[in-house]
Amino acid sequence: MATAAEPRPAELPLPGGREGASVRVHPLMTGRMIGPEAWFLRRDGRLAWRRALGLGMTRSEWLEFPVPAFLVEHPRAGPVLIDTGFHPSVAVEPRKNLGPVAHVLFKDVRMEAEQAATAQLRAKGVEPSRVNVVVMTHLHVDHASAISEFPDATFVVSRAEWAAATSQGQLHGYVRRQFDHAFDYRLLDFEGPDVESFASFGRSFDLFGDGSVRCVYTPGHTLGHQSVVLRLRRREALVAADAVYLRRNLD
Ligand SMILES: [Zn+2]
Repeated sequence: MATAAEPRPAELPLPGGREGASVRVHPLMTGRMIGPEAWFLRRDGRLAWRRALGLGMTRSEWLEFPVPAFLVEHPRAGPVLIDTGFHPSVAVEPRKNLGPVAHVLFKDVRMEAEQAATAQLRAKGVEPSRVNVVVMTHLHVDHASAISEFPDATFVVSRAEWAAATSQGQLHGYVRRQFDHAFDYRLLDFEGPDVESFASFGRSFDLFGDGSVRCVYTPGHTLGHQSVVLRLRRREALVAADAVYLRRNLD
């Protein structure tokens, strides 16, 4: 299938690094959905897929889950976004942006217009066009929904995730028109020679070369899922995205 996007390998570090820099992080709740509990727990077994799709389950076996994005303020690289959350149109017409499959699987999409990441950025005094870098943990519909809102940004995605999203379809949680734009996509090759280990993560990249924002490889939820380790002023934060859906997954 022809694609508008022509991703290129990431050339690190991205500009804006500053030795010893720390960042501030602001979670942005862009909306909520409910999904089958079994979808989040990913159990094995003969009928696991039926349960993961919510077939034959009662309402009490569905969980409400948040759809966040994260604003990261770097002292020199400027505002960075992790994931994009729901597109503003999801507040009025969820099926159009999320596609028919996600709309059936995840019910009760709840979003107010002012919850869109762009609206929340503006409310914090950050013009969305100033966001230079968007780190995509993965390209599932609830993360890639608002990519079109950031045409000037550089999008950082893992190479394996790009391959998965462009070869799999809605049954795997991807809606191509959400991300297939002629934008500046940069791929991190976690299987390549430039990867380095960081703490307990075997494969990582230091995005700005100053240790403030590190992408770490956490495949499992999707084939190319990455998480982000942020150096805050007094501690570190791990944005695990869908690598850890529930406390029970972590335990
Ligand atoms: Zn996901």
